[in-house]
Amino acid sequence: MPGLTLFDGQPDAVTKGERNVTKHCCLMISELPPSYVSARGGRRRCNDSPAIDIRHPRVRELIDRPEGRISWQFNRNSLTLCYVNIVFHRDHAVLTDVTDHVQPKTLSISLLRTLCNYGGWRSWFACPGCSQRCAKLYFDDGRVLCRSCLGLAYRSQLQASAERPRLIAQRIRRGLGGSPSLFEPFPAKPPRMHWRTYDRIRENGERYEARAVKRLADWLER
Ligand SMILES: [Zn+2]
Repeated sequence: MPGLTLFDGQPDAVTKGERNVTKHCCLMISELPPSYVSARGGRRRCNDSPAIDIRHPRVRELIDRPEGRISWQFNRNSLTLCYVNIVFHRDHAVLTDVTDHVQPKTLSISLLRTLCNYGGWRSWFACPGCSQRCAKLYFDDGRVLCRSCLGLAYRSQLQASAERPRLIAQRIRRGLGGSPSLFEPFPAKPPRMHWRTYDRIRENGERYEARAVKRLADWLER
């Protein structure tokens, strides 16, 4: 889980502004990648955003204890990006963002429970934006929302959308009986195809090829 520092114990020292992390049991420290906002202004990725995950083993341990407390810290370039304390109650969690000591912000988040197939319960956050159940809540400019409310994309989704023009261009080439390689000349007109049809397909194919080449150039520039 990137960008997560998880402590257990009493996080009160943090709320008093001492930030003495040695008082806590530090479980994991990692840095968020620097590309919080994509260089080209595209959709941000889930992995780049600070998030709290209800499935984390330590959260699962704490969630059923009365007033189980946990603190999460997100760093980037060794600077604290976000520091939150969470206290779990039976049906809600109280999240206090203490990144700004002067004006800590508190948010109550409802908890939902679903029955597991093999017994027991599974806990979820109810997104403060859409009320849908979600395992992860993301921090974004003072807001705490689910992935779909923030329009965050999975890395695989972004890769798929970047690959799409190339895949379509290759399918068009194969449809004309040619090689799918974009480095070879565009396939010639099949013998029984009308020129008008061929011209239309070729125009379409070349449009996707131009997009594919641009995506590749953008990717190489990154
Ligand atoms: Zn939502």
